[in-house]
Amino acid sequence: MDAKSPEREPRKNSVSVVLERRLLACQECGWVHYVMTAEEKAANDRFLERYQLNDAERFIYESAFRQCLRCESPASEFTTAREEDVARAAGHLVTPVFVAAWVGAH
Ligand SMILES: [Zn+2]
Repeated sequence: MDAKSPEREPRKNSVSVVLERRLLACQECGWVHYVMTAEEKAANDRFLERYQLNDAERFIYESAFRQCLRCESPASEFTTAREEDVARAAGHLVTPVFVAAWVGAH
């Protein structure tokens, strides 16, 4: 038996993940975020259960998916990332947000 492997999940290749994504840019600072699917959000929530967050911690966790990582603008104000936004995003970590399907779809 290998004692250390079962819990570990291989890290996804972040580049290929991002390419398949809907990308949104913060209107305030231009930071680019990718949109999580409901399945991914649910998987994340399950992962967090082991930490038994209290209400305040859970609130912080949830709100992190609904605002800009950098300037904390609400994710509901994001717009679809343009090519220059994506080019700029190549230099930073693209972080997930979880937003309604219509955000940025205009
Ligand atoms: Zn921002």
